[in-house]
Amino acid sequence: MAGLQITEHPSPNFNERPAGTAIDTVVLHYTGMQTGAAALARLCDPAAEVSAHYLIEEDGRIFRLVPEEKRAWHAGVSVWQGRENLNHSSIGIELVNPGHEFGYRPFPEKQVESLLLLLAEVRSRHTIPAGRYLGHSDIAPARKTDPGELFPWARLAAHGFGLWSRLDGSDTRLVAGAEPMAEMTNRLNKQLAIVGYHIGDNDSYGAGTEPLLRAFQAHWRPETVSGLYDHGTAAILRDIATQSVQNGDTI
Ligand SMILES: [Zn+2]
Repeated sequence: MAGLQITEHPSPNFNERPAGTAIDTVVLHYTGMQTGAAALARLCDPAAEVSAHYLIEEDGRIFRLVPEEKRAWHAGVSVWQGRENLNHSSIGIELVNPGHEFGYRPFPEKQVESLLLLLAEVRSRHTIPAGRYLGHSDIAPARKTDPGELFPWARLAAHGFGLWSRLDGSDTRLVAGAEPMAEMTNRLNKQLAIVGYHIGDNDSYGAGTEPLLRAFQAHWRPETVSGLYDHGTAAILRDIATQSVQNGDTI
């Protein structure tokens, strides 16, 4: 394979990974700033104390900010499958996009093509299970909404980067009412936890459930991100939880 063209653009914002930590997760972000140049400057500003391993511009140009063996600062407070602080064990990739605050728009073809090539290279260097290609919103659902519902998760999954469900998720009738609330909540929390989401002390269906459902939907049922537990979401969630178990990639 012809080497991928990557422009070196070093950031001072990194430190060492904990000794013996394997890299087994990829975390995908959008920059959420008005321009790619502004994002690149911020990710290299020592005062900002944030970074990522790579940034991909909308025209497909790839920048390397932090070497993969070092710990970049992109995930912040985060949990997945009971593991905290995903910066330790992950590669962070920022995709230039203004995000929900400044005019969220589709990720252009050239940007997605570069991402697929980069992910193939990353996978050639590290053992990353299919279920460990995640969005920032998956690992920090109460704080983050990136990379969002326009991110091409299905296309990545077709290349083995992430799980995907082929089931129809279009039924937006609510699940609530068909069974006792406690049973419904138990099942919902159990399946979200199997996929990897952090449930915490969220043992009832309430304000804490909505961000988890929104994060799940933005990733796996992007046509309707409502934060509501509907039949379409329930079907897709059951399927993704089953795939997670089959992959042996569970808590
Ligand atoms: Zn992010």
